[in-house]
Amino acid sequence: LKIRILGSAPGKPVSGKNHACIWCLTHDRNILFDCGEGASQQLMKFKLDKDQIDSIIISHMHPDHVSGIYQVLLMFKLNERISELRIFLPEQEDEFAKTLELFYLFKQLMPFKIRIKNIENLDMNWIIPLKNDHLQKYKKLVKEQGLKNKMLSYSFIISEKDKKLIYTSDVNTLDFVKNNLGEGDLVILDSVHPVYEELEQNIKDHRFRFIINHGLSDAMKKLLPLISRERYDFADEEKEIQL
Ligand SMILES: [Zn+2]
Repeated sequence: LKIRILGSAPGKPVSGKNHACIWCLTHDRNILFDCGEGASQQLMKFKLDKDQIDSIIISHMHPDHVSGIYQVLLMFKLNERISELRIFLPEQEDEFAKTLELFYLFKQLMPFKIRIKNIENLDMNWIIPLKNDHLQKYKKLVKEQGLKNKMLSYSFIISEKDKKLIYTSDVNTLDFVKNNLGEGDLVILDSVHPVYEELEQNIKDHRFRFIINHGLSDAMKKLLPLISRERYDFADEEKEIQL
């Protein structure tokens, strides 16, 4: 199980950093979790810019997690990719397919096939999607306006042999992943949304190592001096991590 964080910035841009994108080599497949702005540059840099990526899995539809995908598809087209690409989305697959036409990424002109599926149809049993509460803050608005948004957002457990990686992606609270955190050999942790008490409790209760990803909240800053330095690392968009 190999990992490289290709993008670690939160919604608000950070100079010199890319938006959310995690590369994972697992069970001999190259998988991308999220595809924020800057993903095409990063894929090019690490020689993953043609046929290498098997699937792109999007945790939720916030722009900092998905907006790089159009440029990645254009790059694959121009690089004459031939192998099928699978894109797993949390919701509204048909609406997304229509946006490809909006961007002139017509399937008839693509040298490779794109299969767009729902995350619930993920066919890699070593990747477990866990629904989380990140988008529930829109509930009132979505209901009042009768919008189509399903507010689905996922965290992931990725297992290979005896190793487990947890990618929380964005979460509102850690409630939906806290029972799994203890299993993780490494947790790529949303360090910007959860509140101090929650971070403290979960980091105290379990022994997982973690990567401070997606920004650094005041709560996390306050907590770090209390944690042994071997337990955490700051997201580094260059380093390959082997579990
Ligand atoms: Zn988000």
